[in-house]
Amino acid sequence: MERPLLSMEGLRVQFPTYAGLVRAVNGVTFDLRQGEVFGLVGETGCGKTVTGLSILRLVPPPGEIVAGKIAFDGSDILSLSEAEMQEIRGGRIAMIFQDPSASLNPVFTVGEQISMVIRQHRPVTRSQAYQRTLEMLEAVGLPDPPRTVKAYPHELSEGMQQRVMIAMALSSDADLLIADEPTTALDVTIQAQILELLAQLQEERGLSILLITHNLGVVAQTCDRVAVLYVGHVVEEGPTWEIFKAMKHPYTQGLLASIPRPGSRGETLPAVPGSVPSGLDLFPGCPFRPRCSRAMEVCQKEPPALIPVGPEHYVACHLYQEVAR
Ligand code: SF4
Repeated sequence: MERPLLSMEGLRVQFPTYAGLVRAVNGVTFDLRQGEVFGLVGETGCGKTVTGLSILRLVPPPGEIVAGKIAFDGSDILSLSEAEMQEIRGGRIAMIFQDPSASLNPVFTVGEQISMVIRQHRPVTRSQAYQRTLEMLEAVGLPDPPRTVKAYPHELSEGMQQRVMIAMALSSDADLLIADEPTTALDVTIQAQILELLAQLQEERGLSILLITHNLGVVAQTCDRVAVLYVGHVVEEGPTWEIFKAMKHPYTQGLLASIPRPGSRGETLPAVPGSVPSGLDLFPGCPFRPRCSRAMEVCQKEPPALIPVGPEHYVACHLYQEVAR
């Protein structure tokens, strides 16, 4: 079987706080294959963003990766030197965030900012960097690149700013794009255009994408495979079509039931009861137990392991342990 582009195994990330140790990521394991869009989905506070930042070793202090392995194209990310990581960040792995206006520098034109990234990662002249910037602006569908290149971020709409961020992220031919809620701040029409652009870039450039989102609708539209995170644990993983056809975990089922559907206007949608516990509240057994209507006695004592339940489909829930045996 082909080696995955990114392989994460047993990742644990903790944040010491005055209130105690917050365990944000608790043993996350997944593989991302070359050229696929892999979704990490879950509610706010489930550890998605910290998992993404860990890949670039950008967990904000005092947070710390305390266990696990991250391999990228055969390199052990956690043992690279800082100089080697700087080459990888913005070079082979790029990341974009929810709010493009917070990521762009307001005092430089978008052309200057993209050129700076290109020159940081490639031995090119100013005019070659300028040419490359124009190509990238065109590749992400921005109109009139010679004019857009001279624009300041505030002169562009949020959708255009996100396209600039994508152009910047891909300007040094990244192999992996980590997109953290890239459409959440945008209105629905622009959201669809940005998702379409990501799909097009994946197809045309063979780009691999780790898409971090709280939105199962976005996953359905964009991802080849998906892992559902809950309090820093992967609770279900599989091909997107299989998950939507036969999702098993009560949390995944709850997330899907809470998505509005055509014709559901005016209806009260069922929500997953309760809220995500903080990483401070540790208790034995299944992390979803306090919110699960199907909890059994065993769920109070033993944490469920991730087990196969279908083609490349895995679930961490005691309801399926017997089936798997
Ligand atoms: Fe619910 Fe138990 Fe499954 Fe956890 S292991 S999701 S508590 S049934």
